Amino acid sequence: MTFQELNLIEPITKALKEEGYDTPTPIQAKAIPIILDQKDLLGCAQTGTGKTAAFAIPMLQLLHNKPVGNSERQRIRALILTPTRELAIQIGESFAAYGRYTGLKHTVVFGGVGQKPQTDALRKGIDILVATPGRLLDLITQGFIKLNQLEFFVLDEADRMLDMGFVHDVKKVIKLLPQQRQSLFFSATMPPAIVALANTILIQPVKVEV
Ligand code: AMP
Repeated sequence: MTFQELNLIEPITKALKEEGYDTPTPIQAKAIPIILDQKDLLGCAQTGTGKTAAFAIPMLQLLHNKPVGNSERQRIRALILTPTRELAIQIGESFAAYGRYTGLKHTVVFGGVGQKPQTDALRKGIDILVATPGRLLDLITQGFIKLNQLEFFVLDEADRMLDMGFVHDVKKVIKLLPQQRQSLFFSATMPPAIVALANTILIQPVKVEV
């Protein structure tokens, strides 16, 4: 399997070439066609498998192929929720790398640092937001972020999210999402509490394991 066979658009294949990627990892080969087909996805995969690119690449492609009008420039189109600042930063770097020729804008918000640079970035208008749960809810409460126009929701490292005690925050975020959206859910393990959470987020998901 090559990236060519995945029917990716040129702005993305060009960026992947520059990253030195020539072969999709197993999770990428399985997940990218499903996501491009606009299905919900339940992915059982650990960090290090290429999971980030498995969701970032098809999301960038779908967002790029469906541009928005001028009046809609201010809305956030995709949210990736992840448990830690380190993961949020890494995911942000992945969107920057794979999306560098798509014209799509992203930013990263997480707690433990001043919020001013984050709210400045949000004010300029972004397509893709990578966030940790606490800071996301703070910024929503203050009116800096609205999720009502979201097209994509990704819950990354769901098992770690629960282990870290973020379950209530995650549930609060889910309540704010529009019904009409594509959702992707990733977890390294699938205990009953995770399956139950996935069932509240996903509609007829395709399951992928690596
Ligand atoms: P992740 O599992 O998303 O944390 O990715 C693990 C590492 O694999 C990251 O450093 C990526 O840059 C790298 N990576 C992801 N996909 C590929 C690929 N298809 N070819 C080469 N490296 C990759």
